[in-house]
Amino acid sequence: MTLADAEQALSEAQACLDRGDLDAGLAAALRASAFATAPSTRARAGWLQAQLTYRRGDYAGVLSLAQDLLPMLRAHASAELREFQRIVAFAGAESGRFDIALAAAYEVHMLAKATGQPGPLSQALNTLGICFERMGDPWQAERLLREALAVAREGAPLRELFSALNNLCAVLIGTYYLLRGNEVTKASLAALERALPLAEEMVGLDGATGDSYWRVISEGNLGEILVHLGERDRSRALLEQTLAEALRRGFGPQAQRLNCSLAEWALRHTSPEQAKAVMLTMLADAGTQPLPPMTELRAQHALYQAHKALGQSATALKHLERHSDLLRERIVQQLQAQSEQFITRVEAEHSRREVERQRARAQGLEADTRRDPLTGLGNRRAVDHHLPAVLRAAAASRPLTLAVLDLDYFKQINDRHGHLVGDRVLVILAQLMLECVRQADLVARIGGEEFLAVLPDADEAQALEICERIRQHVAGHDWSELAPGLAVTLSVGLASAPPYDEQALTARADKALYRAKELGRDRVETG
Ligand code: GH3
Ligand code: MG
Ligand code: MG
Repeated sequence: MTLADAEQALSEAQACLDRGDLDAGLAAALRASAFATAPSTRARAGWLQAQLTYRRGDYAGVLSLAQDLLPMLRAHASAELREFQRIVAFAGAESGRFDIALAAAYEVHMLAKATGQPGPLSQALNTLGICFERMGDPWQAERLLREALAVAREGAPLRELFSALNNLCAVLIGTYYLLRGNEVTKASLAALERALPLAEEMVGLDGATGDSYWRVISEGNLGEILVHLGERDRSRALLEQTLAEALRRGFGPQAQRLNCSLAEWALRHTSPEQAKAVMLTMLADAGTQPLPPMTELRAQHALYQAHKALGQSATALKHLERHSDLLRERIVQQLQAQSEQFITRVEAEHSRREVERQRARAQGLEADTRRDPLTGLGNRRAVDHHLPAVLRAAAASRPLTLAVLDLDYFKQINDRHGHLVGDRVLVILAQLMLECVRQADLVARIGGEEFLAVLPDADEAQALEICERIRQHVAGHDWSELAPGLAVTLSVGLASAPPYDEQALTARADKALYRAKELGRDRVETG
């Protein structure tokens, strides 16, 4: 087994898919994934396998393939991921696994938005629209699909245009059945009339795509619409010819859909016997393979009507009951899906808030490690965190001054008035200092009774003024409120850049402070 074998099998599978030979295609795709070693080859083989499996109507097969392949596709950020998830969304929606379908469709939409191209975006809106339709919300579906169609008309590839048209058609046909119930109404016919031009446009595009699967689908849509609009001859010819093609190609679900349309045609135009025969043959052919829910609903409804028209009321009732059971099952499933979707939204909102709370808490904790608990000022860590950026911002051209402020005879204050008063002094002092500086200035408590002020955009003269203001503010404060006879002063040493270097500036400021102490305290010195 070589790389060439895998490549060979891959192109064979692709060719089979293109010409609608599903069995041979699947065999080739399986061979390709058995030979494949590179993730890209395995991804491509998996994607082909999914498409072929889907076209056979084996939706459960597609979903189990997804379980195997999705982790690998995601891990390798594979180009096939979007395409693959789109098929998963359709298979999930067709088989009533709306949870899987919606999750896949949202991933498709996310990946498509990332490409910024109309083709993928149209495709993604399409996929979401189909999921909503199957979930029992044809109005939301129609809105999404009209959006998909509009995007597709703005330069998406032909296939996307085709696909948007097809899905919009399918939604409108579904709306017709939903509104019709047991009686054709004006509103139900209006849905079909909205679908007709879309189906005609699709059939017109067939030649351009050259894909037999697409031809069967578009002619099936048009045939189904024409049956219900009462176009007797045109619908019959189209349905029979398309059914033959679908059977030849092995497009099982499409053949079943066409059979339902032919039974509905017979009910309307010829005989209930014929309708009954078509439906019974179709059910027998399907054997134990479950029909797509929509097809089974149509089949049971046609059988009910056929037996009723033939006067076989017991059997008619049996099919009517089966029809209402299916309908109820479907509605319950749809309601569950809607409710789950609601819960998911609520949970998503909840977890988003939780994440934000945790982030805020983490930021708060981080901020706490940079704060002095006594005064609420920044501490040494805050200086280490902010000062480098302040120095960089000043960048050798803007003024910057560092000031070291130290309480005078603080040891005596503690000794005379007690530590608690000493602590209160530190707290009030912090407030007094903050009252004298600007928003952009940083004041930190870097030691027991020692503070650092970082004053950006302040040259020596300006810094002197600021520090003098602090000194006077502190000395002039009425400390006797705190303890009778208490007086507090501080000494300041400052150093202005250049150099824009923390150590050099701090050393100069410390020297200046020392001088201020020596010269009698309660003064500001520059260094
Ligand atoms: P100088 O004018 O030379 O700076 O004299 P000083 O007494 O202020 O300096 P010294 O370094 O001798 O003493 C500092 C005192 O600050 C010693 C310590 O008891 C006190 N101190 C340091 N941290 C705290 C604190 O958190 N609370 C209180 N109440 N006192 C503190
Ligand atoms: Mg001191
Ligand atoms: Mg000191």
